[in-house]
Amino acid sequence: MSIIDLRSDTVTKPTPEMREAMAEAEVGDDVYGDDPTVNRLEALAADMVGKEASIFAPSGTMGNLLALLIHCQRGDEAIVGERSHIYLNEAGGMSALGGIHPRPLQNQNDGALALEEIRKAIRSEDVHHPSTRLICIENTQNNCGGMALSVDYTRQVGEIAGANNLKFHIDGARIFNAAAFLQVDVKELVAPADSVMFCLSKGLASPVGSMLAGTKAFIARARHLRKMLGGGMRQAGILAAAGIVSLEKMSERVGEDHARAKKLADGLRKIPGILLDEGTPHTNMVYFNIADTIPFDEKELCGKMSSQGVLIDWAGARRIRLVTHYAIDDAGVEKTIWALAEMFR
Ligand SMILES: *Cc1c(COP(=O)(O)O)cnc(C)c1O
Repeated sequence: MSIIDLRSDTVTKPTPEMREAMAEAEVGDDVYGDDPTVNRLEALAADMVGKEASIFAPSGTMGNLLALLIHCQRGDEAIVGERSHIYLNEAGGMSALGGIHPRPLQNQNDGALALEEIRKAIRSEDVHHPSTRLICIENTQNNCGGMALSVDYTRQVGEIAGANNLKFHIDGARIFNAAAFLQVDVKELVAPADSVMFCLSKGLASPVGSMLAGTKAFIARARHLRKMLGGGMRQAGILAAAGIVSLEKMSERVGEDHARAKKLADGLRKIPGILLDEGTPHTNMVYFNIADTIPFDEKELCGKMSSQGVLIDWAGARRIRLVTHYAIDDAGVEKTIWALAEMFR
């Protein structure tokens, strides 16, 4: 039985082209700046997002942490979404390692932080207050259903940051998915931000790694902090070679994953007992709730589906997430719809 794995786009394995590029990669000691393949990846990534420079990090969590540590000093405050990855899924690193105070704001259902809420959250100068230093948004917003935030919205957040002398970071783990949905260049989506992190290891199918981009001075600082955090890697060109394939080839095809997510959602919408989020899907994620009238819960459903060879993940009480990626074809989508229809019958 071939397994259909919809738990996440992180389950993607390197493509044959990546394996080949990895085998042939020219390498050197990247801590000395000697790895030509890492250098090529960093130049390419910076160019694609329209920033001066970028750095290869072992994970998106480390990429975000580097940005937080550079933008904020201990006791500073960072405005984040209460459903953001930085706030929920990065083990509290900003506080534990940076002494940074998070100021969580509600994510609206479209993933955005309301502009008025951001303005209100900025602290006035007062001996009692932490100093607001940074605004973080997430695009696509994973926990809100993989929703894409628009160029216009991002520009407005950038204006608020600029007007208040704050830094602006985008957790763009899936920024290429956002750009594909909005049909814009990634550069436009991140232009208002001081820094952007994006992942090679999600829908772009690399085995490991994320990029952090910003000004040359910012990236020089990130290089120092990455070493401090233990993220200075040696012949990392083996990994960077896959990253180059991610950027040159895989970033072009994420729209196919969105089309399949839409097909999946259209099929699920017809199944009584499956309650899809409104307006979903934007990108490669389909979230749904299990109606209260259904006699099983999310964990039971995941278990039953797994025995059918379809791996899905739960995302809260009676809530399920399905993620499409390059290893999911049309037949996989059809089988998933069929298997779920059987479960809910
Ligand atoms: C996956 C992800 C990250 C980074 O995760 P790592 O697993 O550390 O690479 C950051 N932000 C979002 C929104 C993510 O989905």
